Amino acid sequence: MTEFLTDAQIAQQAELKPITEIIDNLGLDQDMFELYGKYKAKLNIHGLKDQKADGKLILVTAISPTPAGEGKTTTSIGLGDGLNRIGKKAVIALREPSLGPVFGMKGGAAGGGYSQVVPMEDINLHFTGDFHAIGAANNLLAALIDNHIHHGNALNIDTRRIVWKRVVDMNDRQLRNIVDGLGGKANGVPREDSYEITVASEVMAILCLAKDITDLKERLSRIVIGYNYDSDPITAGDLKAQGAMAALLKEAIKPNLVQTLEHNPVFIHGGPFANIAHGCNSVIATETALKLGDYTVTEAGFGADLGAEKFIDIKGRELGRKPDAVVLVATIRALKMHGGLKKTELKGEDLVALEKGLPNLMKHIENIQTVYNLPLVVAINKFPTDTDAELALVTEKVNALGVEVSLSDVWAKGGEGAIDLAEKVVKIAEQPSQGTFVYEDDTTIKEKIEAIVTKVYGGNKVVYGAGVLTELKNIEANGYGNLPVCMAKTQYSFTDNPKVLGRPTDFEVDIRGVKLSAGAGFIVVLTGEMMTMPGLPKVPASEGIDLSEDGVISGLF
Ligand code: ADP
Ligand code: MG
Repeated sequence: MTEFLTDAQIAQQAELKPITEIIDNLGLDQDMFELYGKYKAKLNIHGLKDQKADGKLILVTAISPTPAGEGKTTTSIGLGDGLNRIGKKAVIALREPSLGPVFGMKGGAAGGGYSQVVPMEDINLHFTGDFHAIGAANNLLAALIDNHIHHGNALNIDTRRIVWKRVVDMNDRQLRNIVDGLGGKANGVPREDSYEITVASEVMAILCLAKDITDLKERLSRIVIGYNYDSDPITAGDLKAQGAMAALLKEAIKPNLVQTLEHNPVFIHGGPFANIAHGCNSVIATETALKLGDYTVTEAGFGADLGAEKFIDIKGRELGRKPDAVVLVATIRALKMHGGLKKTELKGEDLVALEKGLPNLMKHIENIQTVYNLPLVVAINKFPTDTDAELALVTEKVNALGVEVSLSDVWAKGGEGAIDLAEKVVKIAEQPSQGTFVYEDDTTIKEKIEAIVTKVYGGNKVVYGAGVLTELKNIEANGYGNLPVCMAKTQYSFTDNPKVLGRPTDFEVDIRGVKLSAGAGFIVVLTGEMMTMPGLPKVPASEGIDLSEDGVISGLF
């Protein structure tokens, strides 16, 4: 059997080009960048202000994820390299990985195999410090809230209704619910409090949706931190926090430039959770890429029912445009899991399970075609266990919907494995496409939720839990009714139950709560339990990670 190199080994064997060369290849002045060592640089966002953003935007999304893994990031990187190989100037825009998953179960998030972004150790661990800056800005606001209460609470903040939380970029369930301010009069006012992971912070979502520094400050000042005893919202602006928070984000707002293993440019910037936030890299990075490349390849978290919907309805509204084409990633393994197989049963050919699982892919295709109204190609991310008969079956069923399939072998071959995909993407991106929002701005919050549930998920009813409709009324009464909604739903299913795979029909979706993110500019709609501070598994990935005497990291994947 062939021995596969690990992602970290492949990345460490790669010969990187100095980042100055990548800047030259982009045709940009070195003065527009600040170097962070030899292989990373930050772009000064003022430099590109007046340039037009007119490249094509390619959105990479996927079927409903399974533990078998889909490979959206890997495909995005391989497609970027593939487009460059066929002579198109392509720039990739991705999220920065969070430390939580790196040490937990998922591992890193800088691609895999021969489709990676490097230096992968840096990208996965601290990178240029943006997440720490976001954490500091978040925690400054938390400190200001408690300090205000300690010094007499002139704003009359109801300490039982503070919604702003402290953050740390780590999976640490111990901090989910805490009591702080203990120790008597000099040490603050005791209250129940909690921590979230940094990527779940509204500051992260704000940084990723802000167009410039003025917009950043306005959004920060709109953050609702809690309510006073009359139930009026109290904002970060009321605490005069926005200026200092923005100062902490001075460098974090600048997109980071790195390279693929094939030396093509990648902007990695921001990494909001895909459940309580919108799950894609910053607007600034995407716009920058659109200005610099003929093609921008970007990824949205989770499946096309979540990430792609939010990309179109939330980020798309800020960008002022929709994708020109969509790549829907699927794997034979994951489809077989949708057909009822367990992760341990995926080795042999199983056309029956595959056919049973295919409707999940079909529903995502239909959504992209008829709800989002965008042209798409299906990319099968190839695994060694896939058989010819399995690939033929998927191709036949997808082609029957008038959609092309491309077998993507980027994990094993890099950009070479995506030449066919790149050619198909170029072809469909040339078609004039409008794209459609799932709902319009001026509909009620309820109408927005119902549009997503019925059109995108395929459910037939929305059931509102106790107090939810009153909360919606409050949000509308406070003037936030025109904001888009950000659905927090399990990524594993079209329903709100992670166990229901495939393509369910005739189901209800339960709405348990809503949360206003006035700074980010959306209303989070909670279906099921929402995890804003994950925990580590029994055997965390951290146990396999090490640093050698000569400074080489091992065990990152
Ligand atoms: P996503 O972005 O959909 O979460 P990633 O691209 O990060 O998925 O891939 C998840 C993991 O699966 C990575 O560790 C990657 O190396 C691995 N992977 C992706 N595609 C393949 C493939 N074709 N063969 C083997 N491993 C793969
Ligand atoms: Mg990914």
